[in-house]
Amino acid sequence: MSEAYDVVVIGAGPAGYPAAIRAAQNKLKVACVDEWQNTDGSFAFGGTCLNAGCIPSKALLESSELFQRAKDEFAVHGIKVGGLTLDLQTMQKRRASVVKTMTNGINTLFKANGVVGIQGHGQLLAGNRVLIKGADGTEKTLEAKHVVLASGSTPVRLQSVPHDGKYIVDSWNALEFDAVPARLGVIGAGVIGLELGSVWRRLGSEVVVLEALQEFLPMVDQTIAKEAMRHLKKQGLDLKLGAKVSSAAVKGDAVDVLYSDGQGEHSLQVDKLVVAVGRRPFTRDLLAQGIGVQLDERGFIKVDEHCRTGVANVWAVGDVVRGPMLAHKGKEEGVMVADLIAGHYGEVNYKVIPSVIYTAPEIAWVGQTEGQVKASGRPYKVGVFPFAASGRARAMEQAAGMAKIVSAKDDDEVLGVHVIGPMAGELIGEAVLAMEYSASTEDIQRTIHAHPTLSEAIHEAALAVDKKAIDGLNR
Ligand code: FAD
Ligand code: NAD
Repeated sequence: MSEAYDVVVIGAGPAGYPAAIRAAQNKLKVACVDEWQNTDGSFAFGGTCLNAGCIPSKALLESSELFQRAKDEFAVHGIKVGGLTLDLQTMQKRRASVVKTMTNGINTLFKANGVVGIQGHGQLLAGNRVLIKGADGTEKTLEAKHVVLASGSTPVRLQSVPHDGKYIVDSWNALEFDAVPARLGVIGAGVIGLELGSVWRRLGSEVVVLEALQEFLPMVDQTIAKEAMRHLKKQGLDLKLGAKVSSAAVKGDAVDVLYSDGQGEHSLQVDKLVVAVGRRPFTRDLLAQGIGVQLDERGFIKVDEHCRTGVANVWAVGDVVRGPMLAHKGKEEGVMVADLIAGHYGEVNYKVIPSVIYTAPEIAWVGQTEGQVKASGRPYKVGVFPFAASGRARAMEQAAGMAKIVSAKDDDEVLGVHVIGPMAGELIGEAVLAMEYSASTEDIQRTIHAHPTLSEAIHEAALAVDKKAIDGLNR
């Protein structure tokens, strides 16, 4: 006999597990099924984000930054560290333990909220039934009033660069290296390429990043992108733009890479090659034939603005649908869907989704870049405040970067906020809240910011929009 639920969620990543929890909070009977298996064979909820993405990468970014700062920056504070050495095994153990704590946390949350967590592969059948196949071969079918598809994404592979998981690797493998590669190649100067390139550079690798586009970080405000490139190059990341990789092959214990750029053909030899050229939606064996759920030409599940697929009571959220592939975007979609299912209000404001790149300095933004506003034709004004003029940033010895605000000339609306600097990812929260509440630039100008804090940079950038900065030069 099959079990019956109000909601069955397929996928327990940051889109699926919040959908399950909110649906249960809404007094619905919920099951959430996930097939994630770690490299040690263990099963875990949390999806890419917790197991092989956001959390492990941030754990290593933190550890590697501490190592680099102890090596290169402590002396200026008058702290002398003799005999500094790297214990990568301990660093990796800590990364794994942070991940385990977080993924175990989902089991606890499921129990506390009454969500039935199931490990196995889920497939949507006709009539909103879900077939579950366990790793041990057992099968069962769940009946569901509503099904939420949250199956996530998987790395894009390049045919000419055959993945082997040892020398030619993806981001997951690159988080689990057990030795620092002397020479690391990275294909793709996107978010993953820059974050993982930074980790291994700080730990001692020579890092070459091959990026096909001529423009560096095209989705980022170009003032900020230029500043980022300057710092990353100074840190030793060898960023090669306009570099088209034609092939890569493992030879002995190394990888030979062939690429071309404006100067012609080049070869490069590295010990590990990370392919980080984007991710694609993952829907393998998710939908039984003829179920009616449509995919677009890039393989994303087609949904409307409320994440409804064309099939009654079947929803899809997270990386498997259109929009930025970000954990917090998926989370909000999951929560929205669970609220809509329960008959409550639910909405995602796609115009105000923050992005963060966890390099040093950090890069964070929300809303439109100056380039986008310019292209829209709306008259605008810009305010910039450099962290070099921030007392707190100086005290931290982290005075690189700036905060930049782009506002409308007509009604003073804040159109975009862009930060490169210390804790940019935390600072952007204020801008997100301001934009969510349709704050004007004057609203930020009139808001008191504690002194000395990094958040004063946002305040001063807002003042600079109208040439009223106190601590910065109004240029
Ligand atoms: P996923 O997290 O991919 O989860 C989907 C889950 O569904 C998986 O557990 C999968 O096993 C399971 N599943 C799939 N099909 C089935 C099936 N048929 N049956 C059962 N289970 C199934 N985003 C950020 O916002 N901030 C960051 O700092 C950040 N860092 C990242 C770093 C790296 C290295 C990577 C790779 C990604 C990072 N991301 C980050 C992106 C983020 O991880 C994704 O946007 C997010 O995980 C998407 O959530 P999701 O729930 O849609 O999918
Ligand atoms: P990305 O889209 O950020 O970057 C991929 C880069 O690879 C692009 O610059 C692209 O031009 C380049 N590229 C594509 N094909 C290439 C080729 N053949 N040769 C050379 N360069 C090529 O993708 P990603 O870095 O793989 O990350 C995947 C997703 O994960 C992103 O959508 C991102 O949002 C998410 N993510 C987010 C965070 C974060 O929020 N901090 C961190 C990591 C990943």
